[in-house]
Amino acid sequence: MWLAIWLTKLGVRVRIIDRAAAPGTTSRALAVHARTMEFGDQVGVADAMAAAGVRIEALNIWVGGRRAARVPIRDIGEGFSPYPFPLFLPQDVHERQLIDRLRDLGVTVERSTALTSVTQDAQCVRAELTRDGVSEIVEVSYLAGCDGASSTVRDQLGIGFPGGTYTGAYYVADVDASGPAVDKGVHIDLENVDFAIVFPLKAAGRVRLIGVIRDLADSSGDLTFEDVRGNAIAHLQLDVTAVHWFSTYRVHHRVAERFRSGRAFLLGDAAHIHSPVGGQGMNTGIGDAVNLSWKLAAVLRRRAGESLLETYEPERIAFARRLVATTDRVFTVVSAPGGFARIVRTKLVPVIAPYVTRIAALRRFIFRIISQIRIEYRHSALSEGEAGSVHGGDRLPWVELPSGATNFAPLASLDWQVHVYGGARRDLADACSQLGLALHCFGWTAKMAAAGFERDALYLIRPDGYVAWADPGAAVDRLHRYLRDRSISAK
Ligand SMILES: Cc1cc2nc3c(=O)[nH]c(=O)nc-3n(C[C@H](O)[C@H](O)[C@H](O)COP(=O)(O)OP(=O)(O)OC[C@H]3O[C@@H](n4cnc5c(N)ncnc54)[C@H](O)[C@@H]3O)c2cc1C
Repeated sequence: MWLAIWLTKLGVRVRIIDRAAAPGTTSRALAVHARTMEFGDQVGVADAMAAAGVRIEALNIWVGGRRAARVPIRDIGEGFSPYPFPLFLPQDVHERQLIDRLRDLGVTVERSTALTSVTQDAQCVRAELTRDGVSEIVEVSYLAGCDGASSTVRDQLGIGFPGGTYTGAYYVADVDASGPAVDKGVHIDLENVDFAIVFPLKAAGRVRLIGVIRDLADSSGDLTFEDVRGNAIAHLQLDVTAVHWFSTYRVHHRVAERFRSGRAFLLGDAAHIHSPVGGQGMNTGIGDAVNLSWKLAAVLRRRAGESLLETYEPERIAFARRLVATTDRVFTVVSAPGGFARIVRTKLVPVIAPYVTRIAALRRFIFRIISQIRIEYRHSALSEGEAGSVHGGDRLPWVELPSGATNFAPLASLDWQVHVYGGARRDLADACSQLGLALHCFGWTAKMAAAGFERDALYLIRPDGYVAWADPGAAVDRLHRYLRDRSISAK
C-alpha cells in the first residue's frame, strides 16, 4: 500500500490486489521508526499515524523480578528527525489508515484476488489473477511482488530465498493487564531464556507481550496463553485479565537472491525476513517501496532511462543483508541459553544501558541505527560527491529553520530538487530553472553546520529525500553532467 500511495502520488496508474478477503485485524508490526514517518510525511500520512500511535517513553530492563534500569527514549533522536521517537502503531490500524489514504487518491485494493502465475517479455509482464474461481490475465508494465514471506511472485520468478529458521518458537499476545509494567514504556525481562517483552498499546491497560515458548514440539499445537504464562510474566509483576489475540510463530532469517527479474520486483517480506529484534521488518519493506516507487514513476513517465531501475536491487539488498546479519547477532545474545549470555543480559546490559543513553554521541548512534535514518546508498551508481560531511547517497540531514519550518518541507513535492544552505549563485538559479529543478535556498545557520552541511554547496536531492550528488563548488556544468550521464530529467 505504501508503494501504491507513492506511485499514485507520482502520477502512475496502479492496480493493487490481495488474496486476503479483508484487511488484517491483528496488531503484528508495532514499531514505526523515524525514517518511515519521514516518508509518510512526504505523502501526507504521518500526522494520522502519529495521532493513532503511542510515543514510547522509556525502555525498562527487569532482572530478578524488579526493574533494574530505566532508559528514557521519548526524545532520543531530538535534533535529527522531525520524529525523534519510536512510535508504536498496530499494523491493522496502520493498514486501515493506508486504505483510507489510497481511497482518497482514487485507488481501491482488489480483495480475494490471488496472483497465480507470472510470465514476462521485454515489453510487459503477464500475470494470471484468480478471483472466485475465475481467471484473468492482465498485462502490466511492471509487477511489484509485495506478497509476503511465501511470495508466489518470488517462486514464479525462480528466485531463491536462502537462509534458515531459528530453533526456538515464540508467542505474541495482546492482553489487558495491570502492574508497574503497564505504562508508555517497553519492559524487558532478561532473567531467563524465556524472556518476555511488554509493549504499550494505545487502549488504556492494553499491552502486547512477546516471549519464548519452551516446549513447542511437545505441545498439541493448540497452545493458549495459559500455556505460556510463565516466569517471565510473573517477574514483570503483570496481572493479565483478558487475552485479545494470541499467536505463535517461528523466526526466520532469509534474503532473496535477487530483488528483480526483468520487469518484476520483490519488496518487503517477499525479499527479506529476519528476527523481530528492533522492529525493523515492516519499516524495511516500506523503505523498499519508497525506493522503487520514484524510479518506476520516472521510467514510466519517460523522465529516466530504464537503467535507473538497476539501482533498486543494489541499494536495497545491501541493507537487507546487513540487517539480517545484525538482528541475527542481537537475537542470538537475547535468546541464548548458557552462562555467558545470561551474564551479558542480567549483569552487563542493565548497568551499561542507562549510561549509554546519557552520552549524546551514543544516543545519536543508537537512534540513527534503529530509526533507519542511517541507511545510506553511498555505493550506488546514483551517488556522487561530498560537501561538508554529507555524501552523495546519504539521507538529507534534517534541520529546523529560524522560521519554524524545516528543510524537509519541500520534499512533499516528490520531485528532484536542489538545496543550497547559504546563498546560491545566479548561474545555479538559471541552470535549475532551465532543468526544471526547484532550487531551495536556506539562509545559513549554525544548525546547518552541526547537521554536516557546507555553506553555499549544492545538494541535489532525489524524490525520496536522499542526496544524489553533493558539490562544494556548486558547479553548474557538473549538475548538467550528473543528470545527463544518468539520463535523468526533472521535467
Ligand atoms: C509478531 C510480529 C511482530 C512484528 N513486529 C514488527 C515491528 O514492530 N516492526 C516491523 O517493522 N516489523 C515487524 N514485524 C514484521 C512485519 O509484520 C512484516 O515485515 C510485514 O508485515 C511485511 O509486510 P509485507 O507487506 O511485505 O508482507 P505481508 O504483511 O505478509 O503481506 C503480504 C500480503 O500479500 C498477500 N498475498 C500473498 N500471496 C498473494 C498472492 N499470491 N496473490 C495476492 N496476494 C497475496 C497477503 O494476503 C498479504 O496481504 C512483525 C511480525 C510479526 C509476526
